[in-house]
Amino acid sequence: NPDLSGDFGHIMDLSDKFTRMHVRTNADTPKDAQVARNFGAQGIGLCRTEHMFFEGERIKAMREMILASDEEGRRKALDKLLPYQREDFEGIFEAMAGYGVTVRLLDPPLHEFVPHQQATQKELASEMGVAIDVIRSKVAELEEFNPMLGHRGCRLGNTYPEITEMQARAIIEAALNLKAKGVDARPEIMVPLVGTIKELKLQADIINEVAEKVFEEKGARIDYKVGTMIEVPRAALTADEIADVAEFFSFGTNDLTQMTFGYSRDDAGKFLPIYIKKGILKNDPFQVLDQQGVGQLVDLATKRGRETNPKLKVGICGEHGGEPSSVEFCNGVGLDYVSCSPYRVPIARLAAAQANLKQG
Ligand code: PEP
Ligand code: MG
Repeated sequence: NPDLSGDFGHIMDLSDKFTRMHVRTNADTPKDAQVARNFGAQGIGLCRTEHMFFEGERIKAMREMILASDEEGRRKALDKLLPYQREDFEGIFEAMAGYGVTVRLLDPPLHEFVPHQQATQKELASEMGVAIDVIRSKVAELEEFNPMLGHRGCRLGNTYPEITEMQARAIIEAALNLKAKGVDARPEIMVPLVGTIKELKLQADIINEVAEKVFEEKGARIDYKVGTMIEVPRAALTADEIADVAEFFSFGTNDLTQMTFGYSRDDAGKFLPIYIKKGILKNDPFQVLDQQGVGQLVDLATKRGRETNPKLKVGICGEHGGEPSSVEFCNGVGLDYVSCSPYRVPIARLAAAQANLKQG
């Protein structure tokens, strides 16, 4: 546990006096949420839900869902995942009681959940009582040449709305269960990889319908928000439309950098050092926010979004949220918060205060 007593704690407290932006954290477990709270994080800016599907019974149910041949089969598997998800969210909301927790709906392409090695495929086939060919043909069906630009994010939630339904139900039920125990849970449901208003609207409709259904079943209500990642350049350019539906924006600058430069975030590391050495780039844009190109999209989307919705909450949850010069840029364009990994929270708090002092 971080020790924020003594000089370090004093500097942290002092920095908060001069700051405008809040600092949130990126956390997927109650433990990380707690570490970040101890470092002074005021909420979760990004809870990635995909990591919750990889263990034991969860990965089994996830694979059943992926291998199911119809909606009914997928729903049956998702019913098994619901209690796990609800428990995950209860833990995280409780660790961040009183602060906003942005939960992002499932983002990665489904092929990440199926085994690609023959031996593991064989094992899975016998475990599930299906022929190995069923697994192989599903793996082949899910294969994509550019999965990071492929069937992921809200593209999944819009092709398989039942996934969004399950996650929305788990989030709302978790918050209601905690409310019954006197815990102040504040869920913010975030839709990933939105590029068009229709993509967001369809997801928001599902979330709101599920929430109303759960409120009726439980005879109680809670406040929640629905918002979106801004990580596809088209979403930034059409932010005025998107803010008609979104109550908050969170810049996913990892994907936004990838798509603005056209650099693969998984492969660019192979040539970026040469680019930097030759002076083509000053920094690695995946580490230090490119203030000119990507930054222009951040600035423009914030302005356009707030023209439609002056109350729009805007933050950043890409890697840049904990990098001091990027934090300074975020303060300058008027973001409400930055979100970074738990151990970067103190540096982000300092950077946010310094930026605000400098920029006035
Ligand atoms: C991003 O794209 O910046 C982001 C925070 O999401 P992820 O890294 O999970 O794609
Ligand atoms: Mg992303």
